[in-house]
Amino acid sequence: MEIITPDIEFKRKLGRLSGARLSQCMQCGNCSAVCSLAPGERPFPRKEMLWSAWGLKDKLIGNADIWLCHQCGDCSTHCPRDVKPADVISAVRLQSYAHYARPRFMGQMLASPGWLPMALAMPVLVIMAILSLAGTFKIPEGPVDYSAFFPHIWLNSTFTAITLLFYLLAFLGLVRFWKDMKKRTPPGEQGMKRLPLFKVLGEILSHSSFAACGSRQWRKWAHMLLFFGFALLILVTLYAIWATITHNYPLPLSNPFKVAGNVASLMIYSGLGIMVFQRLTNKDVFGKNTYADWLLLVAIALLTLSGTLVQMARFGDWSMAYHLYFFHLVAVWFVIMYLPFTKLGHIFYSTTALLYARSIGRK
Ligand code: SF4
Ligand code: SF4
Repeated sequence: MEIITPDIEFKRKLGRLSGARLSQCMQCGNCSAVCSLAPGERPFPRKEMLWSAWGLKDKLIGNADIWLCHQCGDCSTHCPRDVKPADVISAVRLQSYAHYARPRFMGQMLASPGWLPMALAMPVLVIMAILSLAGTFKIPEGPVDYSAFFPHIWLNSTFTAITLLFYLLAFLGLVRFWKDMKKRTPPGEQGMKRLPLFKVLGEILSHSSFAACGSRQWRKWAHMLLFFGFALLILVTLYAIWATITHNYPLPLSNPFKVAGNVASLMIYSGLGIMVFQRLTNKDVFGKNTYADWLLLVAIALLTLSGTLVQMARFGDWSMAYHLYFFHLVAVWFVIMYLPFTKLGHIFYSTTALLYARSIGRK
């Protein structure tokens, strides 16, 4: 006999985040029938809608299916009661970031607008402290040289250490998530297969799940532009770190990696442009725009824009170059270091859920 423990506060939060009237769901199953990603056996999102209406947090958090959904919105479009299952699933994902975040306050800090000043103050104060320790917390004289403001050795070592610390904490959260998935959706009689790393990597790179939704292909292209733009930027950043170590920095504008960095920025601008336009004009698909959605889009836009301006300021010898550079570093922190605790954390959670689902044969 299974003991069911409803969590009414969790249900209220889901309702607030999604804007859905959860108790209105009549379990007709339309949503699961139209979902092109739902497996034949125990399909989603109908069962998740029932659990949401009952406030069954334990069943929803740690449920791999929540992360297999790509929020195409088909289920919401076809729901006869307008319960917005796509928004509900998205709200469960948002609650999952906070649930698995360690330390807990990191998850709460990035989930609520009231905590935004604190989330901004943390990188500002830490960067100021590092600059003070390095003895360079002042505007350098002469032509713009960012390394005179933030010496490479300090920048590389401190930012790498802080990123690794946050990602290690995220890894511990993912281990808990994995254990929860095993509990909620145990492997069948055949047990678990070897982790299908290459298969999952292929699915992610090809965006095959996005392609399954034939009616909204722009989502696939917008996501691909952002995904590959980001991947390219990370590659360029790694090269830039290497160039600082080998004293080949700064790079001239004609350097292939510099060109690649600017191409990546253009890809991100394009992907963001499509997403913001669709969010503002296509409410049927996106449903309720949440704080987490806008926080992520604005943070990525500011990161990319400040990166472009920092580059222009160096070549143009702008007087405000160092202020822009400081702002850019805060934006880097916000997007890259906070990644596991924001909506961008879906990179980790979706990948882990895909690995689990495919290794137990869930298609
Ligand atoms: S969410 Fe809508 S479509 Fe899905 S089962 Fe409930 S009423 Fe039916
Ligand atoms: S949003 Fe799309 S992928 Fe997600 S459950 Fe609904 S129909 Fe399926």
